[in-house]
Amino acid sequence: MKAVFDHSEAEADNIRTFYFKPERSVQYTAGQYTEFHLPHHNPDKRGTQRWFTLSSSPDDELLTITTKYAGGDKSSSFKKTLFKLKPGTEVDMAEPMGDFVLPKLIQTPLIFVAGGIGITPFHSILSWLSDTVEDRPIKLLYGVRNEDEIIFQETFDKIGIEPTIVVGEPSAAWGGERGRITAELILGIEKPSDDTLVYVSGPEPMVQGLAQDLHKAGLDKHQIVSDEFPNYDGI
Ligand SMILES: Cc1cc2nc3c(=O)[nH]c(=O)nc-3n(C[C@H](O)[C@H](O)[C@H](O)COP(=O)(O)OP(=O)(O)OC[C@H]3O[C@@H](n4cnc5c(N)ncnc54)[C@H](O)[C@@H]3O)c2cc1C
Repeated sequence: MKAVFDHSEAEADNIRTFYFKPERSVQYTAGQYTEFHLPHHNPDKRGTQRWFTLSSSPDDELLTITTKYAGGDKSSSFKKTLFKLKPGTEVDMAEPMGDFVLPKLIQTPLIFVAGGIGITPFHSILSWLSDTVEDRPIKLLYGVRNEDEIIFQETFDKIGIEPTIVVGEPSAAWGGERGRITAELILGIEKPSDDTLVYVSGPEPMVQGLAQDLHKAGLDKHQIVSDEFPNYDGI
């Protein structure tokens, strides 16, 4: 599917949301991702293709992706090109896919756990719930490196969710949780029942580590739904 870059908006110093107008209307479920092709001159070894979650709500007119810019030599040629896109540029996206989506049963208790940019599928889901005025029992834990990287606060406010935010390298003024999200913290937020589902999204090591620890702590494997972002070395 072709899509035309419309504009981008800063979410934080190093995080932006990119808006695209698809050539035709696209059906997708909140939480899904796409394969994104961005041909450019002299691509590095990491190439011209990436996976990105659609951070938009399926009800939005434009499709969005939200991503982080590592900066300087650390950034791939792909990200350098993306962050310099000119409005009107055409890109290629695959049909949205993936099963990191809401369960059918509306009353299923949900615990969402995001590491850094892993907040994107939850943004899509929460925006869609807000658009459709659907009420679900959701708790959200959100780990970030520092306070400047907390994004999408407006969406949390709009739907009335107060996330438990855990900051890895907080300023002295930070009054909330510090360090890393642990299985103990997740299970302490709300005692899970047999039908609780815990959705974990973020850097691969974080997601895999938490999934193992949650299982060891007694959650059945089917209660843990994972979305892993490879190539992020931290949150
Ligand atoms: C299902 C799925 C959904 C995803 N959704 C999103 C999303 O919503 N938003 C998002 O930002 N990403 C998402 N990703 C990850 C995305 O596809 C990229 O892998 C990620 O953005 C990193 O991009 P980049 O490789 O261009 O690296 P950059 O962003 O340019 O750099 C990221 C980090 O990679 C390190 N690095 C440097 N060189 C290398 C190297 N050679 N190999 C590996 N790492 C290196 C850098 O130190 C830097 O810290 C998703 C991935 C999957 C599989």
